[in-house]
Amino acid sequence: MSEPRDVDVVVIGAGQAGLSAAHHLARQGFAPGSGFVVLDGDAAPGGAWQHRWPSLTLATTHRVHELPGLAFEPASEDLPAAEAVPAYFAEYERRFALPVERPVRVSAVRRTDDGRFAVETDRGTWRARGLVNATGTWTRPFVPHYPGQETFRGRQLHTVGYRGAAEFAGRSVVVVGGGASAVQLLGEIAPVARTTWVTRRPPVWREGPFGEEQGREAVARVEAAVRAGRMPGSVVGVTGLVVTPWVRRALDDGVLTRLPVFDRITPDGVAWDDGRTVAADVILWATGFRAAVGHLAPLRLRTRDGVIPVEGTTAVDEPRLQLVGYGPSASTIGANRAGRSAAVALRRLLAADLPRSA
Ligand SMILES: Cc1cc2nc3c(=O)[nH]c(=O)nc-3n(C[C@H](O)[C@H](O)[C@H](O)COP(=O)(O)OP(=O)(O)OC[C@H]3O[C@@H](n4cnc5c(N)ncnc54)[C@H](O)[C@@H]3O)c2cc1C
Repeated sequence: MSEPRDVDVVVIGAGQAGLSAAHHLARQGFAPGSGFVVLDGDAAPGGAWQHRWPSLTLATTHRVHELPGLAFEPASEDLPAAEAVPAYFAEYERRFALPVERPVRVSAVRRTDDGRFAVETDRGTWRARGLVNATGTWTRPFVPHYPGQETFRGRQLHTVGYRGAAEFAGRSVVVVGGGASAVQLLGEIAPVARTTWVTRRPPVWREGPFGEEQGREAVARVEAAVRAGRMPGSVVGVTGLVVTPWVRRALDDGVLTRLPVFDRITPDGVAWDDGRTVAADVILWATGFRAAVGHLAPLRLRTRDGVIPVEGTTAVDEPRLQLVGYGPSASTIGANRAGRSAAVALRRLLAADLPRSA
């Protein structure tokens, strides 16, 4: 096993949040390579965008905000997000000569006796004085458990495994979840299959534009929850689901008529305690994600809710750990801002600490 490599800062993850942090670390005076390094588990640039389903186009995303310092100018809004965004990220890494090492998967982060972090990976160990965690959520899809789930004879998949509606043609599909992904996938699947939509709470539709004030309110609620170590509610719970022209038509046609979530799963479908049943060939779990922070477990920062409390981007109990794209900054615009505040925080903290290795 090779000797640990020493740097000031290790950034874990090269999605929107990690690249923004890397850009700002360089601007704060950390030297690319000797001062900081970005370790990314994927084989190619693009973060989670490279894995999104092929029918998700730039036009059907909410909005992908550009990274600091380079315009995102795709040739067409109809390009698959899984192609256009990774191409932009690849150009970004090249343009700013960001020191991204891949594929490198971080398995554990521990404190060392001399007050550093040891970042253990499948390619050896890096030692750092500060850390930026930017690992997103895509690698941790969340599927709730319902009684009888293991007896289901059909196919169950999470949105991470969705590749397009064609494979469901003529089938009966139960879509679970009240978020934007569920609505979007229903829009694709309903024209070719029989769909049933179930959500825990009745959806709240938003006809008007989503203004700055609502945005601030949504972020403030998530911030308050994460600071207190509580699991934040879904963003859609605060913002509502956008009524696009397609959604308007689907609402009028009854495609988006929702039922409460079933009480149990049977070998042939789903069932409610009031005796109602729906036969199903497929259960599609559009039930979201959790933060991919298992590698940080040795630092023992998680509350009983499984949340690492943060103030801004700084872990409350371990200030040299910055979490970006986490909690309130888990959007492309939030991740951008978080990258800057993480870099600024680390420059201040580490300047007061040992001399730089750069
Ligand atoms: C279907 C879908 C559509 C979305 N659309 C939008 C949108 O339109 N606008 C918007 O603002 N947000 C959108 N989001 C939210 C979006 O995911 C975030 O805004 C943003 O892309 C996440 O960036 P990130 O850098 O935090 O994470 P990611 O893009 O997931 O990047 C994380 C990186 O960390 C790496 N990694 C993970 N674990 C490890 C490890 N242990 N070791 C090493 N590397 C690791 C991964 O390989 C990956 O490259 C969408 C989410 C989904 C699921």
